[in-house]
Formats: sequence, C-alpha cells, structure tokens
Amino acid sequence: MRRKIVAGNWKMNGDKSFASSFSSEFQKKLSGVPLNCDVIIAPPAPLLSIVSDGFEGSEVSLSAQNVAAYEGGAYTGEVSASILQDFGCAYSLVGHSERRALFGDTDEVVAEKIGQLLMQGIAPILCVGETLDERDAGKAKDVVGEQVAYILDRFSESQLESLVVAYEPVWAIGTGRTASPEQAQAMHAYIRAVLSTYSVDMAQSVTVLYGGSVNSKTAQELFAQQDIDGGLVGGASLKVDEFFAICQSFG
Ligand code: PEP
Repeated sequence: MRRKIVAGNWKMNGDKSFASSFSSEFQKKLSGVPLNCDVIIAPPAPLLSIVSDGFEGSEVSLSAQNVAAYEGGAYTGEVSASILQDFGCAYSLVGHSERRALFGDTDEVVAEKIGQLLMQGIAPILCVGETLDERDAGKAKDVVGEQVAYILDRFSESQLESLVVAYEPVWAIGTGRTASPEQAQAMHAYIRAVLSTYSVDMAQSVTVLYGGSVNSKTAQELFAQQDIDGGLVGGASLKVDEFFAICQSFG
C-alpha cells in the first residue's frame, strides 16, 4: 500500500551514545505529537540494536543501509539479510548512489541484494538517480528508468509488494542543492509511468520517496507534490529537531 514515509539515512555517522540519545529524544517528541507518516531510521549496522532497543514499543521502523548479495558463509565483512532480520530490520536501503559509485553496486548486484532481502521478508528501499552529467546530457529519465526496469524485469509484482523506491539525484545528495519540487515531481511521475508498464496497480501502490539535501524548509513543498510520498533524508536526519520537523511536513 502507498504510504507516507520519512526515512533517515545516518550513513557512516554516529556512535553508541549518539544512537541512544537520538532514540530517546526522538521518542519523547513522538509521545507529544503524533505523526501522519511512517518513520524509518537507518543507522550504521553495529548501531542497529541500540536504535532498535531505543525505539522499542514505538512505531519507528529500523532499516539497514546495505545488505550482502549472498545468503551467508565466507564473506568477510558482509552482513546478510538473515542477520538484519534477526536484528529487527523491516527495511534495507539498496543501491544507494554512494554504494553504486564507491563500492561497485551495479544493477546486477542490486538485484542480488534485493533477492536476499525478499527471502527474509525485508522491504527493499531501492535508490535510483542520475548524475549531473547524465542530467545535463538529457539522459536523466533514461538512467532512472533503466535502474527501475532492471529490478522490475527480474522480480514479479507479488514479490515486489513491499518495494519502496527512492529517487535521489546524485547531484543533490549531500550537496545542499535540492531538486526543485517540479524537477522531483516530474521524475516521480516518470517512475510511476515506468512502473505502470509492468502493472497499473503497482504504479499506484508503490511508495516513491525523494532524497537529496531535504531539510525542514524544503520538505513541505516537496512532499506536497502528487507523486512524492515522503523523503529519504541523509545529513538532516542526524539532528533530532530537524528530522522531526521534516516528519511533520505532510499537509
Ligand atoms: C542520502 O544519503 O540518501 C541523502 C539524501 O543525503 P542528504 O540528505 O544528506 O543529501
């Protein structure tokens, strides 16, 4: 079902004390003001259990930032989907542009990882987006469409029931440069058009998030767009007040 979501991607930031103080401060805010969106936190893997304990009994869901492309065994340094499931992850990011650019996560690897997540009942948050060069060359839709289609070609509609897509233009991530609401809406509508070539129902039901320098000043207008169901937030998700304000940005 299409839901409103705000997901915070802490990237490689935070430590034990940050994770527990963030969770307790955010919990306090939640108890005073109910939110009309789902909230997801994606901390670094070693902090998952602290965040999970900190949010016990609340509606906040836990996400990993990445998952191994393999089921288990001799893959030093990797974390399997079954371990993430054991730690209470309901979601995992997959194909974040930093992983695509720095760690060789090709579409093929992304598909393997999604396969692992689905076997464990973890919802994939598939990150897609074009670079500035690709946008300037007029290829933004082709790039994003291909990233989405690669996955849709390999899994059935029922397998992808839990899929969340996050459109994150690479030029807007961590740069302070947000896509305009019109630019973001145009790409989100295009993503739904690609989804509808597979299934009209899926095009309507998949939650599509926008990510790229979202903050409490830009969130409201972005989230008001017809095809934008919320945000994937990096830097601003590390500040409790700012992240909470973003979560309150739905009309
Ligand atoms: C991200 O890491 O997914 C992201 C969108 O980062 P930022 O909000 O810092 O641009």
